[in-house]
Amino acid sequence: MIIIQNGQLVSPQGLTKADLAIEDGRIAAIAEHIEPGENDTVQDAEGCYVFPGFIDGHTHLDMDSGVTVTADDFTTGTRAAVCGGTTTLVDFATQDKGDTLMHALEAWHKKAQGKSSCNYAFHMAITDWNEAVKAEIPQMFEQGVTSFKAYMAYDALKVNDAELLDILKTLKPYGGILGVHCENGLLVNALQAEQKAQGHFSPAAHPVSRPPEVEAEAINRLCYLGKLADMPVHVVHLSSALGLAEIRNARAQGVTVYAETCPQYLTLDETRYKAPGFEGAKYVMSPPLRSAADVQALREAVAAGEIDTIATDHCSYNFKGQKELGLCDFTKIPNGGPGLEHRPMVVYTSMVQTGELNITEFCRLLAEGPAKLFGMYPQKGVLAVGSDADITIWDPKAKTVITAARQQQNVDYTPYEGFAVTGMPKAVFVGGVLAAEYGQPTGKVVGTYVKR
Ligand SMILES: [Zn+2]
Repeated sequence: MIIIQNGQLVSPQGLTKADLAIEDGRIAAIAEHIEPGENDTVQDAEGCYVFPGFIDGHTHLDMDSGVTVTADDFTTGTRAAVCGGTTTLVDFATQDKGDTLMHALEAWHKKAQGKSSCNYAFHMAITDWNEAVKAEIPQMFEQGVTSFKAYMAYDALKVNDAELLDILKTLKPYGGILGVHCENGLLVNALQAEQKAQGHFSPAAHPVSRPPEVEAEAINRLCYLGKLADMPVHVVHLSSALGLAEIRNARAQGVTVYAETCPQYLTLDETRYKAPGFEGAKYVMSPPLRSAADVQALREAVAAGEIDTIATDHCSYNFKGQKELGLCDFTKIPNGGPGLEHRPMVVYTSMVQTGELNITEFCRLLAEGPAKLFGMYPQKGVLAVGSDADITIWDPKAKTVITAARQQQNVDYTPYEGFAVTGMPKAVFVGGVLAAEYGQPTGKVVGTYVKR
């Protein structure tokens, strides 16, 4: 057995000073004091918080955009994840137009199997909706996929409103959940063309072509589709105050709307696009970074309990060679940024340390919330006897500075360069196996597929 002693166990109900024993990959006991036997290993957590391992519900690893492939694959991405305290991620298996869902799922299993340092599950991104694809939905549930994704933007990925409504209705009897990328794709295309017609080709044109109205309109439409289908909807990567207002309005009308936001929308703003030269390309992601007022509105929503999960939308491309594909045209910059490794540290430092967010809410947003929303609870997302021993021991006093030079993420920059951190994972267990200590991997590749 491994015994974690003297830590403060974190649950939504609060903090409990207790010992915790791990055996055969599960939490075997929780008690005020557990006496270690001769063959037991003791992990001292004095002065530390003990969390259920953090879950990142939104990552893109080993994803081919058609032009280039993300810098992080499952080997590097999941290693970075455990170093930051994340023990499970949910990646997007993505259907190619004309292909089957099953083929996409098989392809993603191949990408992840035997390479993952943390556990992994898959959302299925539906990009081509027809009768044959519809008939595959029961099979997806049999395969342990209970969450799906649809895009309202990107020509290669998006589905139309009628298809979106039909997807929602189809998922309803299974209790599945649909996450949606909410941006009006037709408007984005038109606004991008307008920017280029005006001679604007730099990264600074990116946020102008995807204003908050484009997100809010799509959220509004999605919420009405949810209302029509009598189905909950899940808004991924919420970035704006206008979008938040639409979610509030829909909730007031009785629509169940789950909301996810990301660390970048809580800590960085649109001034990053004004950086000299091509620097702004590092922040080209969709939706884009917003105004300081948007950042503040989202932080207040997080603190008020209006947000269900904080995920990263980790989608890393190197600045050199990959982001540079859009050197002469901002619409050709691969969209996305890294964050998988740093999410817990960035959110803890910028919101818990500052007193804006309490420790149990932090636990809800990073572990319990995604576990419940994506059908992994109480196997994951809680410290309870019988639950998986995915555990993050958090040293709230440890200090470090985030830099690309020292990160595990296989990418040549980080949006959080120079960010001074207080609080980091001291030890991270995946299925009862020590996977990382103080930001360094132990080299154990023990992540398994989470069949939901
Ligand atoms: Zn995404």
